[in-house]
Amino acid sequence: MIDLHTHSDRSDGALSPQELLVRAAAAGIKVLALTDHDTTAGLESAAHAATDLGVHLVPGVEISAAWRSQGIHVLGLWIDPESGLLRQALAGQAERRRSRLRAICAQLSSKGLPGEQLRADVEARAELPTRTHLAAALVDGGFVRRPQDAFRLYLGRGRAAQLATDWPPLAEVVAWVRAAGGIASLAHPARYALSATAKRRLLTEFTAAGGAAIEVVSGANAAHHVETCAALATQFGLAGSVGSDFHGPQLPWNPLGRLAKLPQGVIPAWRDRGIQIDMGG
Ligand code: AMP
Ligand code: MN
Ligand code: MN
Ligand code: MN
Repeated sequence: MIDLHTHSDRSDGALSPQELLVRAAAAGIKVLALTDHDTTAGLESAAHAATDLGVHLVPGVEISAAWRSQGIHVLGLWIDPESGLLRQALAGQAERRRSRLRAICAQLSSKGLPGEQLRADVEARAELPTRTHLAAALVDGGFVRRPQDAFRLYLGRGRAAQLATDWPPLAEVVAWVRAAGGIASLAHPARYALSATAKRRLLTEFTAAGGAAIEVVSGANAAHHVETCAALATQFGLAGSVGSDFHGPQLPWNPLGRLAKLPQGVIPAWRDRGIQIDMGG
């Protein structure tokens, strides 16, 4: 089994990189990419654990980008985390995340919530703040019952605290991945609020920028999404990646590795990587 999209507690996952690898090995995963949001901080300890457990670790990252003021996630796979350009770029992303947290918390204050307290809470629990951490702070503060409610009421699409962050343009993010020797795969294509036409334009620009793959199988996505993404892969000459977007055992809808097969005719993103895996079952 192969899973090319997972998170650890170095971003908004629940498990340490080592715990993630132990769980992946137990689930029968042979090839795993750790793709934390805008950070490669977990890759070194993940690599050690992977060696001990006999799992093939693909060094990865999930980078936040913008395309027409829509947030887009780009997976960088087989990246070199020591790449100078990538390191510098991710330092910039961390700075963006910190100033975005300040802006979102100011919005929450204007809604009558204790924004400064929530910000301190997030900063205490996360080196690299994400909305997931803020949702957890809102739950712990008793302001919402569940993280999903935090997104529904405050942090999600169309809500006051969902600020259109000035993430760098898609093409720039793809260039960082390529400069680090990796391949760029468009993450969870079904998740964006874009029309079919807009999505084709997005893919045109992504491909022109050097994007190489699209996440054809993404977590618990329905079969029709897989078919749609497979058709896009073929149309744009992109390879296909597969990933659970696992964040932790508490989110049962994204279990590690329990993924549909890449449809026939889609070139696997790992084809030329010397990886022998049994995709059956
Ligand atoms: P950020 O990268 O800071 O914008 O945070 C986005 C993260 O929030 C995603 O990677 C998900 O892990 C999480 N997330 C987004 N929407 C929801 C939701 N509706 N419920 C729970 N978690 C969500
Ligand atoms: Mn996340
Ligand atoms: Mn994502
Ligand atoms: Mn993800």
